[in-house]
Amino acid sequence: MELPSPPKPPVEPAPIRRLDVAVVNRIAAGEVIQRPASALKELLENSLDAGATNINVIVKDGGLKLIQISDNGHGIRYEDLPLLCERHTTSKLRDYDDLQSINTLGFRGEALASMTFVAHLSVTTMTAGKTHGYKVSYKDGVMEGDPRPCAAVKGTQILVENLFYNVVARKKAFKNPSEEYGRIVDVISRYAIHRTGASFSCKKHGDSRADVYTVVSSSRLDAIRSVYGPGVARDLIAVTASSDDETSSTFKMDGFISSANYSAKKTVMVLFINDRLVECAPLKKAIEVVYTTILPKASKPFLYVSIIIPPAHVDVNVHPTKREVSFLNQENLVDTIQRVVEAKLLDSNNSRTFYTQTLIPGASTTVAKEKEATPTPSIPRNYQKAPVNKLVRTDALQPAGQLHSFLQKKTSGPSNAENDLAVTRKVVRQRRNPRESADLTSIQELLASVDQETHSGLLEIVKNCIYVGMADDNMALVQYKTYLYLINVYAFSKELMYQQVLRRFAHFLPMQLSSLAPLQELFMVALDREEVEGRWHESDGPKAQIAKLNSELLQCKAEMIKEYFSLEIDDGGHLRTLPVILDQYFPDMERLPSFVLNLGNNVDWETEKECFESFSAALAEFYAVHTPSLPNPSGDGIILYQRLKNKLANTNDKSTETGTHSLYTLSLDPKYSLSISRPWILVTLLVHADNLMERNEDVNSKDTESEDLLSEAQTIWAQREWTVQHVLFPAMKLFLKPPRHMAKDGSAIQVACLENLYKIFERC
Ligand code: ADP
Ligand code: MG
Repeated sequence: MELPSPPKPPVEPAPIRRLDVAVVNRIAAGEVIQRPASALKELLENSLDAGATNINVIVKDGGLKLIQISDNGHGIRYEDLPLLCERHTTSKLRDYDDLQSINTLGFRGEALASMTFVAHLSVTTMTAGKTHGYKVSYKDGVMEGDPRPCAAVKGTQILVENLFYNVVARKKAFKNPSEEYGRIVDVISRYAIHRTGASFSCKKHGDSRADVYTVVSSSRLDAIRSVYGPGVARDLIAVTASSDDETSSTFKMDGFISSANYSAKKTVMVLFINDRLVECAPLKKAIEVVYTTILPKASKPFLYVSIIIPPAHVDVNVHPTKREVSFLNQENLVDTIQRVVEAKLLDSNNSRTFYTQTLIPGASTTVAKEKEATPTPSIPRNYQKAPVNKLVRTDALQPAGQLHSFLQKKTSGPSNAENDLAVTRKVVRQRRNPRESADLTSIQELLASVDQETHSGLLEIVKNCIYVGMADDNMALVQYKTYLYLINVYAFSKELMYQQVLRRFAHFLPMQLSSLAPLQELFMVALDREEVEGRWHESDGPKAQIAKLNSELLQCKAEMIKEYFSLEIDDGGHLRTLPVILDQYFPDMERLPSFVLNLGNNVDWETEKECFESFSAALAEFYAVHTPSLPNPSGDGIILYQRLKNKLANTNDKSTETGTHSLYTLSLDPKYSLSISRPWILVTLLVHADNLMERNEDVNSKDTESEDLLSEAQTIWAQREWTVQHVLFPAMKLFLKPPRHMAKDGSAIQVACLENLYKIFERC
């Protein structure tokens, strides 16, 4: 294509003309509203300025077709509506000097006006105490007709449609709506972790699930976890810094920085200065430098930093979109923060944790290996290179009984590479589009009924309670305000798992089993167990036949089961994978046989909705936090264990009559979890004791064995308690919507009210 030749400079000067107001406004608008995300940022800030605690956003075509924001703020007065979208009209600033102490996010009165010059804007609003609201639309800064009364709730809803409809060149620049949508999600995510006192949601028009969804959260870390995911929140270190030296810099800073365990390709820096979302290139650079010097290449940090500076030291008016601010003594502030970050990071690097990433099976090994293989020379002091299989948590602050301490890594050979790649791709796809899941209406209906059934009081308790400890084998004691409650761990965990299955439906990551598990064998084990427990009678039919029919049934549903539940059954009738329902959580493998039996017996394969519901319920039962089969070693545990041994011996006598089945030890891939294989052996042995004799002679006799098992029981119970505290409760806070029946059926019991207890103590 031939380019037009550049215009020749005019010989005569052209006359100077006054630009048409509409042109001026449109040019100015282009500065404030540079792209859909900048419009959204202005709208969001207006809602926050209006005191909103709940803000919901809907976006169509990356914001070019529609941005709709609804808030529950104070609304706009009827008499202000004519002025609302005129340029330089604001309720936030009067004099220039007010800028020195401004505490609202907006102050120029330009944003809404600008939007009306490049888009169609309409507003519905209602102030407190009114019986109805008003709706009105605007064009080029003025109202189109009078406000019309309409039904509304307190707050404001603003619709920005057809952004840049009259700025063709600008509109064309946004070729990729999903990239623009990503920017919008980014802005909301940042505000959502900063403003923990408000709840936010953002979704695409027509989607039922939100891409950002937060509730009012008690801690910043909770908010980060729900917005950026547990993978980010897990590896954060809290940092604070301050200086009140008037001559150099006065500021207070607090935030979270990623530790040595975190790895990402791009820096994410969420920076708020005096509660304004801003950028500060020198600060970002200074912190990045620290990370590149201390950590191996290619690991960029995640940073959340909030800085408070005396308002008089900050000029907020240096950028048209208020994206940057300038402040006094910037170098000093940057220096101080850099030093604090460096000290924290060095500290964390000395006690670094080598996680075996559970989310990306296989891929994780590479990440950890990479970190381990390329320590930079600057890694200080007592860092020692450990053999790969010895990489364990060395941070003294972490309790010993947690699952990670049992993780071992398996070096994945080249044959796994393709598989790993596929899994990684799936994860990446899912991360990019986390909530795109389950469009199936039946799943939507099941989720809706979870919502409908939610008991708000119980929800409040679960969200805000503090875990105290296990009161007995199954009840956890929690404190909520001045009340103490007992929470049935099994019932609550089961409900959580059920809801998570629905939410992750069709998007589960698979976990590999260490060895293939033949379905028929699993059914047989389960049926034998039923017999021991008196739940199987000869009249039910031959066990072998039941096992065969059931496993054929599951095989014939294999495709569906794999697609929706990531539960893979191969052509030979072996179970190969299980779904990850909750990150960092593994089911008790001892229960696998009962789970498959449950699938065979209780899943309704006829109608879609019932099928998903009953399948999810079976998974929930399997993944729930059960009481371990090894008795609790504290208290009467040892005696109980002795009894168990006797029972073992009795079963041994009997077992010659029953058919024998090959004994295989099964666990999730050791890459994911090791410690669960033992109880499985124990239970299998209870049923097939002759195998026990052959393969595990040592299990059946000596006293030393009871000690071994005792110490194993101690580990299992400690591990379980750790999981309840650190995995189950945090997950329940984030995800569980407790149904009404739980408030009545003894799943949650109020045991004490501290005020009354104090009264009793006073009397004592
Ligand atoms: P600024 O925020 O700089 O004042 P804007 O153009 O963004 O200018 O908004 C103009 C005025 O409209 C604000 O000063 C505020 O009084 C009102 N306003 C805008 N959005 C809202 C909202 N969501 N709730 C209540 N008032 C609002
Ligand atoms: Mg504003």
